[in-house]
Amino acid sequence: MNRASPIDIASGLRAEVRAFCDEHLPEDIRTKVLLNQHVSKGDHVRWQKILHAKGWHTGHWPREHGGLGWSRLQRWLFEDELYRQGSPWLVPFGVTYVAPVLYTFGTAEQCARWLAPTADSSIWWAQGYSEPNAGSDLANLSTTAVRDGDDYIVNGQKIWTTMAGWADMIFILARTSKDARPQSGISFLLVDLASPGVTVRPIRSIDLDHHLHEIFFEDVRVPAANLVGTEGGGWTYAKFLLGNERLLSAEVGKARRMMDTLRGLCGSILEAGRPLIAKESWQRRLAALEARTLGVEAVCMELFAQAEAGADPGAKASLLKIMGSELLQAISATTIDALGRTGLSYQTEALDPCWSGPLAAPRGAAGAVNEYLHGRAVTIYGGSNEIQRNIIAKAVLGL
Ligand SMILES: Cc1cc2nc3c(=O)[nH]c(=O)nc-3n(C[C@H](O)[C@H](O)[C@H](O)COP(=O)(O)OP(=O)(O)OC[C@H]3O[C@@H](n4cnc5c(N)ncnc54)[C@H](O)[C@@H]3O)c2cc1C
Repeated sequence: MNRASPIDIASGLRAEVRAFCDEHLPEDIRTKVLLNQHVSKGDHVRWQKILHAKGWHTGHWPREHGGLGWSRLQRWLFEDELYRQGSPWLVPFGVTYVAPVLYTFGTAEQCARWLAPTADSSIWWAQGYSEPNAGSDLANLSTTAVRDGDDYIVNGQKIWTTMAGWADMIFILARTSKDARPQSGISFLLVDLASPGVTVRPIRSIDLDHHLHEIFFEDVRVPAANLVGTEGGGWTYAKFLLGNERLLSAEVGKARRMMDTLRGLCGSILEAGRPLIAKESWQRRLAALEARTLGVEAVCMELFAQAEAGADPGAKASLLKIMGSELLQAISATTIDALGRTGLSYQTEALDPCWSGPLAAPRGAAGAVNEYLHGRAVTIYGGSNEIQRNIIAKAVLGL
């Protein structure tokens, strides 16, 4: 039997996702996303539950765990088309990051306890990897977990934890041994954020939002049943998770959505009485960004098609992270340049969907500035681009 080609899979799935979004993506949520306004936890959960009812929220999970057994290509196409249509970010910490670790390395009891509430978004996960002295050099982490009877006692600090204020659970990397080389003394633990001794504090970021947090653990008792895999084996699971994180890091659908906004602004913003889009210099800039977007999409398709044929993208996923993040930054910087003609301001009230006061700049301008500011982080999180370049140099180019 002939297998469907990646192009056929792409066009079929994209059309299905488009039609589904037309019918089921709530208009209020789509509008917030298109204007880059604040999307609440309730909005995320409402949309994720709709996707879950269709089976798509966990389409990439194996069938025996309630998924559809999608390939990596299918998962990427699904998310990509979703973002193009104005879907909010599918928060990955549960369904995409920790769940595959659980069904690959966890026990049957852990799967039975955590997978179903993760799939239907009734629990919200956070990712507790980074620490004040362990970001790029993650193996330098110093949070400790010491075995005490049926529990581990956790002490330490995590930082830059996204959306932790909304989270019920956090998966952390903690040091269970200092004897061996740094990587082998690390364990992967699931911690209930309501446990006594946990303090979650928001951090205000450059975009003036509070989506980042620092988390302090003071003598926090964590049941030993919440250890995933073997004690000391956490580095293997951590790397497995980061591989999945990187594979979805090239957000071409979001880039296309941002290009639509940029093109719209260039049609309405005037300079010397003419819309920017009428100027050859702006046409060239837009064309260059379009070409880059097509380039990133082509690399994604190539890598995922290779994966479809059984090849492991491995370190090449780092290429997606670099190209995708730099593309988003280039589009948002060009958007800010266009908006500069209107007298740039960062009107944060306009990010509140309920606010109806006068606008200081074109509709969507506040969201564009927010995207630009928050977008400084895309070359940092998920492993900074310098680190990705090191990986490519060593693992792909053999330097
Ligand atoms: C918006 C945002 C959300 C985040 N969300 C989470 C989250 O939910 N959970 C979580 O655990 N973490 C999260 N992080 C943390 C993120 O993973 C780290 O910021 C990242 O790994 C970089 O670590 P660092 O900040 O400690 O910088 P450092 O590692 O101190 O790096 C500082 C600079 O030095 C460069 N550098 C470091 N080492 C090398 C090297 N060997 N070669 C070349 N250059 C190098 C880096 O590229 C960077 O430019 C988030 C970060 C941001 C900004």
